[in-house]
Amino acid sequence: MSMFKKMELSEEKSKKQPEKKAEKVKCLIIGSGPAGYTAAIYAARANLHPVLYEGLQPGGQLTTTTDVENFPGYPDGITGPEMMEDFKKQAARFGTDIRFGLATAADLSASPFKITIDNSKEIHADSLIIATGATAKYLGLESESRFMGSGVSACATCDGFFYKNQDVAVVGGGDTAAEEALYLSGICRKVYLIIRKDHMRASVVMQERVMNKKNIVVLYEHVTREIVGDGNGVSGVLLINSKGEEVMIDVTGFFVAIGHLPNSSIFRDYLVTDEVGYIKTMPGSTKTNVDGVFACGDVMDAHYRQAVTAAGTGCMAAMDAERYLGIRDIP
Ligand code: NDP
Repeated sequence: MSMFKKMELSEEKSKKQPEKKAEKVKCLIIGSGPAGYTAAIYAARANLHPVLYEGLQPGGQLTTTTDVENFPGYPDGITGPEMMEDFKKQAARFGTDIRFGLATAADLSASPFKITIDNSKEIHADSLIIATGATAKYLGLESESRFMGSGVSACATCDGFFYKNQDVAVVGGGDTAAEEALYLSGICRKVYLIIRKDHMRASVVMQERVMNKKNIVVLYEHVTREIVGDGNGVSGVLLINSKGEEVMIDVTGFFVAIGHLPNSSIFRDYLVTDEVGYIKTMPGSTKTNVDGVFACGDVMDAHYRQAVTAAGTGCMAAMDAERYLGIRDIP
């Protein structure tokens, strides 16, 4: 071999990045909402030695709500962050390895599945439980974020009760907005439904239900400009109608229902999703189209989106993973 060739080879060698050492785990859980932690509790008790990455928002969506009154087992209610702390403690008690970090890439082409954390560390997982949740879309107004949790909410089932016999507003014209408005109409005195177009996108049956409710006032062609209030909370919403006129409605609650985005983008090259991005699972299970990959909670549920239903599917995912690992007999 010539000297020249030798030099080329050694240069090539020195250019090579040092190989990242991957960590091998039996059961990897991504996400720390009710689904992720419940999966962790079950997986840890089944000796799967789960490793759980918390993601961008440790504790999930519930950490942005105040009181949770509809999760069984808390007769006096509990705050969202406190409840998620309880979930975390319970998962840790059985030995779940809970880590701070965000899954930034995934290769699900073969088992073990390769998940990259924070663009650097690679985990090789024999089974994968995706519990990454969904993110509610917001209008993006400064006043909206200012009153988040003190008048502004993205979940009527969670927070509607706090506005009993009061006047509230819902923004959005889809099925979620119709459903939220109908739910609130049974609790509140008056519900304004703010729709930016001259028609609703919701299904006909939902539209009919909305129209049949005497205490729902539909405001077509109205756009939200600002949520108004003070240190005590929200007192009104400033709207602009199609003529460019300002309209002020007096409400104490403002519910945003303009859709959710499931946090599934890094898996979409491998997993079957619906057109929005919700991961499709086999009916009655949490199995995805990739053997050994399971999805639970809001990332696969466009319909119920409740903490208790997410916890239920988290339990299912751990049991499905246990069965899968048992069948494959992975030590
Ligand atoms: P959709 O995407 O169907 O509707 C979102 C609504 O929000 C639209 O009316 C849209 O207006 C409006 N919107 C979006 N951005 C803004 C904005 N910046 N300002 C004001 N309005 C805005 O989402 P949903 O969550 O309602 O539904 C998602 C899916 O889940 C749908 O397929 C739905 O059918 C389904 N679903 C079914 C239910 C049921 O069957 N009971 C219950 C809940 C959901 P525009 O129309 O102008 O774009």
